[in-house]
Amino acid sequence: MRYEAPSSTKAAVTLLSKEKGKSAILAGGTDLLVRMKGGFIEPDLIVDIKHIPQMRQIKKTASGFQVGAAVSGVELGESAVKKAWPGVVEAANLIGSKQVQGRCTMVGNLCNASPAADSVPALIAAGAQAVIVGPKKKRTVPVEKIPTGPGRTSLAKGEIVESLLLPKRPARSGDAYLRFIPRSEMDIAVVSAGVNLVLDAKGVIKEARVALGAVAPTVLLVAPAAKAIIGSKLDDEALDRLAAACSAACSPIDDKRGTIEFRTKVAGVLAKRAAKIAYQRAGGK
Ligand SMILES: Cc1cc2nc3c(=O)[nH]c(=O)nc-3n(C[C@H](O)[C@H](O)[C@H](O)COP(=O)(O)OP(=O)(O)OC[C@H]3O[C@@H](n4cnc5c(N)ncnc54)[C@H](O)[C@@H]3O)c2cc1C
Repeated sequence: MRYEAPSSTKAAVTLLSKEKGKSAILAGGTDLLVRMKGGFIEPDLIVDIKHIPQMRQIKKTASGFQVGAAVSGVELGESAVKKAWPGVVEAANLIGSKQVQGRCTMVGNLCNASPAADSVPALIAAGAQAVIVGPKKKRTVPVEKIPTGPGRTSLAKGEIVESLLLPKRPARSGDAYLRFIPRSEMDIAVVSAGVNLVLDAKGVIKEARVALGAVAPTVLLVAPAAKAIIGSKLDDEALDRLAAACSAACSPIDDKRGTIEFRTKVAGVLAKRAAKIAYQRAGGK
């Protein structure tokens, strides 16, 4: 097995696209190394992206934030992103422990492609985009286009996610993320919900995005759930419509952590609670 630590995205892409055997990108390694230790994968080449300066930066731009793919949970939590996107940062900072936080990245969470990944519903609700660099071209896609099933992504050979783009916040906007776990921490979401809202001057919801985790093979963006609350001030009827739309979108598995019935019901409950937090954060009363 070869280990490489290039100092530019271009060099990383060249290494990955020229490799004839199996290759893997190492960001924090908190998924990759566990899978290697467990004997599930044995890459011939590991490309460590933590030495690429551009990928270690968070930049505030005219259109929002650009978060490098190798930015850790701790770095994100200490940045200006926290004030603008509290739901995204809270979701990312729920991952693992302090030790895991020092290494793990949102892009690793996204590209590991678990339907229960904590930062992904919040990123999707935020309308985040991923900047992908490949051997032939650079492209930008909504984050929900990356995971295609458990452990699978739409990334082609040689492609790397270089950064995530979080849009600039309009006035009166707020987001939130909640997950259900049987323990208080260090557990995988049984169900999760991310909600992002923009209100008008009267406190009426004019834009909404709702995403659910761990209730389908990939994290879901639930358009009918957003539609259910747009035009409302998040009154009880709107909240009930939101919960019903979320539950209707679920097609979860039954496993030792939660039944289909439980996940379907709790998706609606969490979406309601996350929506209330997002509404308050947006200044709604
Ligand atoms: C003790 C422990 C607790 C955990 N708790 C949680 C939790 O509560 N919630 C949760 O969601 N997860 C949890 N995880 C899983 C893991 O920590 C997260 O998924 C984390 O965000 C992965 O990030 P990473 O940078 O470590 O990814 P890595 O392990 O480096 O990479 C993960 C995958 O993404 C690919 N990848 C990484 N970067 C890129 C890139 N730039 N472009 C393309 N592909 C890339 C890698 O090749 C690999 O396949 C836990 C893990 C551990 C060990």
